[in-house]
Amino acid sequence: MSIQVIKFGGTSVANISRIKNIASIIEERIKSKKNKIVVVVSAMSGVTNKLVEAYKKIKTDTLDPEYDVILSTGEQYSSALISTILNEKRINSRSILGWQIPIVTDSNYSKARIFKICQNFFRDQFSNYDVLVVAGFQGVSNDHRITTLGRGGSDTSAVAIAYALGLKSCEIFTDVEGIFTSDPRIVKDATKIDFITYEEILELASLGSKVLHPRSVELAMKYGIKIHVRSSFKKNIGTMVIKEENKIEKEVVTGITSSENDAKITLKGIPDKPGIAAEIFGILARINVNVDMIVQNITDDGKFASLTFTVPIEDQANAVNELKSSDIKFKNIHADKSICKISIIGVGMKSNVGVAQKMFETLAKKNINIQVISTSEIKISVLIDLPKKKTAITSLHKAYGLKK
Ligand code: ASP
Ligand code: MG
Repeated sequence: MSIQVIKFGGTSVANISRIKNIASIIEERIKSKKNKIVVVVSAMSGVTNKLVEAYKKIKTDTLDPEYDVILSTGEQYSSALISTILNEKRINSRSILGWQIPIVTDSNYSKARIFKICQNFFRDQFSNYDVLVVAGFQGVSNDHRITTLGRGGSDTSAVAIAYALGLKSCEIFTDVEGIFTSDPRIVKDATKIDFITYEEILELASLGSKVLHPRSVELAMKYGIKIHVRSSFKKNIGTMVIKEENKIEKEVVTGITSSENDAKITLKGIPDKPGIAAEIFGILARINVNVDMIVQNITDDGKFASLTFTVPIEDQANAVNELKSSDIKFKNIHADKSICKISIIGVGMKSNVGVAQKMFETLAKKNINIQVISTSEIKISVLIDLPKKKTAITSLHKAYGLKK
C-alpha cells in the first residue's frame, strides 16, 4: 500500500465546482495506482475570517478555548463536504476531525503545537476507505479540548501527518503555480522557482510571504520531508522545497521580496555612552514591540549618537509614546511610515562575493537611497522610500538575472 498526503488550501475548495475539480485530481490518483490518500483540507476561503469576526464581536481575547472550537468548524465543514462529493463519485472516503485521530497538541489555544499523531488510526481506517479527508488546522489537547494551530496552520497539519506516516514528501495544492522569484503582481516577468531550500522559504515567510505556514517548513526541515507546492488549477509541476544539499544549482539570488509592514523610528542626539541602546530596546521589549533593522551613527565630536530602527507599523505610535515618556535623553524623535523593506534571498550568497555590492549599485543607478541595511547568511535587506518600491524590485530582479 502506498500512501500519499495531499493538502488543499481554502481557494482550492472555495465552492462546489472547485471541490469537484479537486475530486478529479484525487480520483486520478486512486485509479492510476493502488494508492491510499490522506487529503488534508483548509476551510473554504473566507470562512475562517468570518468565524474570527463573529467571535470578535463578543470578545477580543483569543486565549479562550471556545475560540478554537469556533474556528475549527470551518475545516469540519469543508472536510465533510469533500468527502460527500468523493462518495458521490464512488470514491470510498470519510471525513476525519483532529480529535478522532487524535492529533494531540499542547493547550496553547489559537496557536497550539502538535505533540503526537496516532498513525495506527490511519492504517486501520485504510482497511475500509481509500481516501481519508482530514480537517487541517486542528487538534485536541490532553484535557480533551479542541485546539487550533494558528492561522494558516493546515499546512502544518499536512506535513505533521506525512511525518507520522513515515513519508518522505507531502504535496500542497494552492491557488498559485508555485513559489516565484518575486511577486508577479509587481514584477511582470517573475518566474516560478523549481527548487527552493527550507532556509530560503523561511526567510521569505519571515518577510511576509504567505505561501506556506512557517511551522510546516520548520517541521519539514527537521524531518527531511520534501514539500511540493503546486496549483490545483493547472497541471504544471510546482516548486519543490528541499534540503540545501539537494539543490544542485545554487543560484546566488533565488528571490526578491518586499514588505510594507514596518515603520522607521529615528532618535537623534542621544548621549553616546554604554548602556543606552540596552535601555532603549529594553523599553520596547517591555511593551512587546519587536525591533527588526537597526543602524547607529555617531556625531563627529563623538558625544552624540543617532539611532534608527524599524518596528511593526501597528506598534509605531505606541513605541514613540513610550520613548517620549521615558527617562531617555534625546534631542528629537522622528517616525516614518512611508518606507518599505526590500530583501534578496539565496543560499548561494554564502559562497559568492559581491552580492551586496551589486544590490547597492543597482539601487544607486536608479537613484534610490538606502536608509538601513541588515543581513543574514542568506539574505540582504534594505530600507527604502515606499514610492521607489516597484523600481527597486524590478531593477534588482533584472540585475540578478531572474527574469524569464
Ligand atoms: N482555515 C485556517 C485559516 O484560514 C487554516 C488554514 O487555512 O490553513 O487560517
Ligand atoms: Mg494557507
